Amino acid sequence: SVPLSYFGGIGAASRAGVLIKGSNYLEALNQVKTVAFDKTGTLTRGEFAVVNVAPVSLSKPALIRLAATAEVASPHPIAKSIVAMAGIRADGQQSAEELVGLGVKATSAGQPLYVGNAKLMRQVGITNDLPDSTTGTMVYVALADRYQGAIEVADAIKDTTVPALAALKQNGIRQTVMLTGDNRQVGQAVGDQIKIDAVKAELLPQDKVAEMGKLKAELGPKEKLAFVGDGLNDTPVLASADVGIAMGALGSDAAIESADIVLMNDDPLAIPRTIAIAKRTKQIVW
Ligand code: ADP
Ligand code: MG
Repeated sequence: SVPLSYFGGIGAASRAGVLIKGSNYLEALNQVKTVAFDKTGTLTRGEFAVVNVAPVSLSKPALIRLAATAEVASPHPIAKSIVAMAGIRADGQQSAEELVGLGVKATSAGQPLYVGNAKLMRQVGITNDLPDSTTGTMVYVALADRYQGAIEVADAIKDTTVPALAALKQNGIRQTVMLTGDNRQVGQAVGDQIKIDAVKAELLPQDKVAEMGKLKAELGPKEKLAFVGDGLNDTPVLASADVGIAMGALGSDAAIESADIVLMNDDPLAIPRTIAIAKRTKQIVW
């Protein structure tokens, strides 16, 4: 039987904008020792802006337009920033293939067009020295096997990320970890700013699941692992956590489905608040 106070805990959480899908997750929250986070849209706002355009031979607007023809079909927040800059609209005609954790593939004038990260450029045989950045995320463009240039996009850390991580450490969480598909330099730069304990970067969704397995193996018998994500491509990772927490506002329906806890306002501070509710609930039960 479920102790009555658990319903009180779920009610208190829901008043704080946190949907908990069962009393067992409130109980599990009390045992969470490691919290892993997705970066984009979770620790950062997930609202990118184009900060630099570096074409090889095209004009800057032409490089943006070329990239946007591939990105217009993508739901990724990086894609939205490039499409906004180009000022084009989806007309349902464009088709592109989403290459999860890498970028997108489309066709332009009968030629293959790739837009994405360095890993993608290597995969399609681009051997150019690619310009790098430690502050923004580099989006590279290749058309017909030829490197066309780079677009640098930047996201901002959410206002409440730093206090949320600090509150977790003060409330019994031993380790906080970032699992990101973004490159190592950007991941580490964000990690240093927010004082997260560990950064694992350049991960495809299946690599994130593998990292979750490693984190779980480091825990004691009754200790638990939580994952917090915005849900874009994170569904398998959410499902692999003892407690899967999804950001509900930006998150996809699939993520909200596979999560155990949904944060309706996407505020990282809701995580330590919910842990505090779980603790109070436990004190009432015993
Ligand atoms: P995260 O783990 O930070 O949520 P993703 O798994 O969504 O990141 O993506 C990982 C990386 O793949 C991004 O940092 C970006 O370099 C690249 N990428 C993914 N989708 C796109 C896209 N539509 N356009 C450009 N780059 C993309
Ligand atoms: Mg993501």
